[in-house]
Amino acid sequence: MKIVVDQVVLGDEKESSLREIEISSPFLNSSTSKLSVEKAFAYFPFINAHDHLIGNWYPPARNSSLYPNANIWVKDMKLSPSVKERDKVFVNSIPMSFLKENGPLLALLGGYKNIFSGVGVVQDHAPIQQDEYYDLFPIEVLRKYRQLHSITLGNFWGGEEPLQEMEASKGEMPFIVHLGEGLDETTKGEFSKLYEIGLLKPNTLIIHGISLTKRELHMCADTGASVCWCPFSNYALIGQTLDIDTCLSIGVNVVIGTDSTLSGSINLLSEISYAHQKAPHIPAKTLYKMISSHSAKALFLDKEKYALQEKNNENILLVKAKAKDPYSNILKITPDDIIFFMWQGVPIYGQLKYLEHFSIEKDDYYTYTKEGTERFVKGHPEKIIDRIDSILGYHKTLPYLPFQG
Ligand SMILES: [Zn+2]
Repeated sequence: MKIVVDQVVLGDEKESSLREIEISSPFLNSSTSKLSVEKAFAYFPFINAHDHLIGNWYPPARNSSLYPNANIWVKDMKLSPSVKERDKVFVNSIPMSFLKENGPLLALLGGYKNIFSGVGVVQDHAPIQQDEYYDLFPIEVLRKYRQLHSITLGNFWGGEEPLQEMEASKGEMPFIVHLGEGLDETTKGEFSKLYEIGLLKPNTLIIHGISLTKRELHMCADTGASVCWCPFSNYALIGQTLDIDTCLSIGVNVVIGTDSTLSGSINLLSEISYAHQKAPHIPAKTLYKMISSHSAKALFLDKEKYALQEKNNENILLVKAKAKDPYSNILKITPDDIIFFMWQGVPIYGQLKYLEHFSIEKDDYYTYTKEGTERFVKGHPEKIIDRIDSILGYHKTLPYLPFQG
């Protein structure tokens, strides 16, 4: 099926005047039809390089003061009213296993946070789970990775010793670690430790990196390591963020992540617009790369498969055009501006009228009306909320679920 929009953002992000793109899906009623979607841009679904899916409870677990480092927050947040409320649904025990009890309910909520913001791939930073866990989601939750919670706390949450984790990556998948999330001396020493142990490699993906000096960032650039920028979470917990200007001037591969809503933004669209608010001099196209090609590189995703091509696209995101160019547009859109989102040939989220082009099982979808537009989403997030409501004994609303408000 061919789709005509105002502009298609192709994989290499070269300036393209392409307006027509072909999508493919085994569920399409007609593969030869042509559909015009006015005032719309086509993108590859976005990539969220850092989240903790079961941590997407709300409101944030923090008090008004800032923390010297995030490890103090990790202990503090467990006592917060928000986490205590979440614990009624699921208590996160060690080693972390999200298939137990109500773990899947919470993890799926985190999945929906990402779906409603047009995310096709999300990295769930946690000890590696069983395959069945990753199968729960209608989008891709990265399966191939190795991890370390942080240099200071180690793998307290589960997983192997740091060097074993790196070795198991064989350099063929990301090795992901929270690092430099603070400004005190302990945190400032984390990078040297990482380097001394031998964990700074081309496949290292450093999350946060607030404390990293210019010299350390140069070492990241020279090694080819990636750094994940989470500005909202950083300013909320620490009051400071990564030295993004140095990163960009020396060519560090920077990606963007939301972190969970216990510390981070509501979703990836909010995160991007917050990044723009804090650093308005960074071109929108550069920000876009941080949720597309740069993320694909950091997460070891095939750059052809994880980008739009002219033909045979099983993954696509059509979004209302609210700005002149598709890059500035990502700073202005909300979940309600997503027109159609398809992942691996399966319609995931969008305006209900587009679902008519597909032979799908209606029961597999939840439909609702928002501001006069009928919308669909794959699966049943409303049933997750019903279940949570029955556990809590009152109605819970979450700001990243657009059908709630
Ligand atoms: Zn994190």
